[in-house]
Amino acid sequence: MSDDLQQVGGGCYCGRVRYRANDVSRQVTECHCSQCRKQAGHRYAGTGAKASDIGIEGVTNVTWYRSSPDAERGFCSTCGSHLFWKPSDKDYIGILAASVDEPSGLRIAKHIFVDDKGDYYEITDGLPQYAGYDRPLKSE
Ligand SMILES: [Zn+2]
Ligand SMILES: [Zn+2]
Repeated sequence: MSDDLQQVGGGCYCGRVRYRANDVSRQVTECHCSQCRKQAGHRYAGTGAKASDIGIEGVTNVTWYRSSPDAERGFCSTCGSHLFWKPSDKDYIGILAASVDEPSGLRIAKHIFVDDKGDYYEITDGLPQYAGYDRPLKSE
């Protein structure tokens, strides 16, 4: 396991869904797209791991919502906590940073879909910002 990867545990607010994951990136991406903001109530902050490295307890309590042709979003059916983001075409599950048990060991690393961010806040942490997944936005 490289220094950038770690094991984490986490779960939802009510505790019906718990997970353990190996080889989770410490690098958190904040996504500012309107889908993430609508669903999460604000921007999405997540890390992730290979789907095969994540074990979910109480998986029958997870509702998977297909938010686009490319991905599903998993949340607790009881308390509504947003937990997972799962692309259709990859062995990967995104894990919402706020669901990770603390101390999380995680750190915000970059901002994506900044071209679709809300008009009610500014990004002021000086970290790299991208339009879409990886198109450089601008130099500030
Ligand atoms: Zn819950
Ligand atoms: Zn997004």
